[in-house]
Amino acid sequence: KDATGNPQTRHWQALGHAHHLPPFSDYRQLKEHGPRIITRASGVYLWDSEGNCILDGMAGLWCVNVGYGREELVEAASRQMRELPYYNLFFQTAHPPAVELARAIAELAPPGMHHVFFTGSGSEANDTVLRLVRHYWAIKGQPRKNVVIGRWNGYHGSTVAGASLGGMKAMHGQGDLPIPGIEHIDQPYWFGEGGGLDPEAFGIRVADQLERKILEIGEERVAAFIAEPIQGAGGVIIPPDSYWPRIREILRKYDILFAADEVVCGFGRTGEWFGSQYYGLEPDLMAIAKGLTSGYLPMGGVVVRDRIVEVLEEGGEFYHGFTYSGHPVAAALALENIRLLREEGIVERVRTRTGPYLQRRWRELAEHPLVGEVRGLGMLAALELVKDKKTRERFPADLAAGMRCREHCFANGLVMRAVGDTMIVAPPLVISEAEIDELIAKARHCLDLTA
Ligand code: PLP
Repeated sequence: KDATGNPQTRHWQALGHAHHLPPFSDYRQLKEHGPRIITRASGVYLWDSEGNCILDGMAGLWCVNVGYGREELVEAASRQMRELPYYNLFFQTAHPPAVELARAIAELAPPGMHHVFFTGSGSEANDTVLRLVRHYWAIKGQPRKNVVIGRWNGYHGSTVAGASLGGMKAMHGQGDLPIPGIEHIDQPYWFGEGGGLDPEAFGIRVADQLERKILEIGEERVAAFIAEPIQGAGGVIIPPDSYWPRIREILRKYDILFAADEVVCGFGRTGEWFGSQYYGLEPDLMAIAKGLTSGYLPMGGVVVRDRIVEVLEEGGEFYHGFTYSGHPVAAALALENIRLLREEGIVERVRTRTGPYLQRRWRELAEHPLVGEVRGLGMLAALELVKDKKTRERFPADLAAGMRCREHCFANGLVMRAVGDTMIVAPPLVISEAEIDELIAKARHCLDLTA
């Protein structure tokens, strides 16, 4: 990680140290080592400033769905930049890329979801969810129905509302979060919190917490439940099969809106366009971002169910929006990105070929002495590092096994993310079978080095 051969590396690290405060970074460590400098990328590979080639097992931050270096996206953005580089959508205004993109998303979304509110990021999308659901119930004459329930260890972004809706305790610890009006229930994390139950019984038990929480708060106070179909940043938590049907039952029983955070699952990661479609969910709102533009430009949004739009229309002006809502260049690029995903059959390939292939090969890692569980779906996969395979005893925290594994991966040409001792991959959706073989071989080698 330290600068070695290339003098430019030292130059950029010094600039970073002197001037840059990067997101989600340990500033003490940075002071000692300086950042890793990534300079270019192509397909599923990154290059750092030392010339090392690294297989990007995380598609950036779960976002570069079509892979790096797609000229079509560059062309679409530059065409739009020449035509209309910017105009706002405030005060009853629109431009062609925004409305064309809204239609393209509506065509892919679950039935009955035909409108999109655009934002600049996934966090802004979830802020918008919070404001939209409260606005909705206020228009319906129930302004006190304003509490939103999220899940511990869920991730919904880094703004004040996003971090509050999320259940990351370390984030809550910095800055007096969550804000009032947001409550949390447990996550369906069987490996970590199953407590001896079989997975399906555990799924029901954690889903039933939602009902208990609703009754505790009062059903007339609960506006919405927000959740990722599969928790990403929390550790690729795949819920037991019993979980979502029970949650759906409870939401219907108490007339509570459901907001699916599709920022990670959306645009093909599970092999369906949205994770909600994989699980047969019928969300009222869906937060989207990341794969919408394959990360080439920042953009997010909220896809909204028709019956909610009908109520919003009665409410007059919605005092909410962003300078960059529906940015024309990002929208034109997103449209081209969706065209590539569709016309090249990328989502279909994840569903039928490369997703099952990754999952089959990933499960071979279950044999490794350090691995307590493997799980995954489509282009999402995780494994749990354990000290004792039989008893599933964890490594002591001060050993930082996950961090060590991640560092071995970087040094050996693979990006794998560590959430504590859970190791994660979510590669670009275009990854080939040969590249999956390379990913698995490198992952296995790095597990050996971590042992
Ligand atoms: N929601 C989920 C599920 C995410 O994983 C993320 C980012 O990782 C966000 C929301 C926040 O998106 P952004 O970083 O674009 O604000």
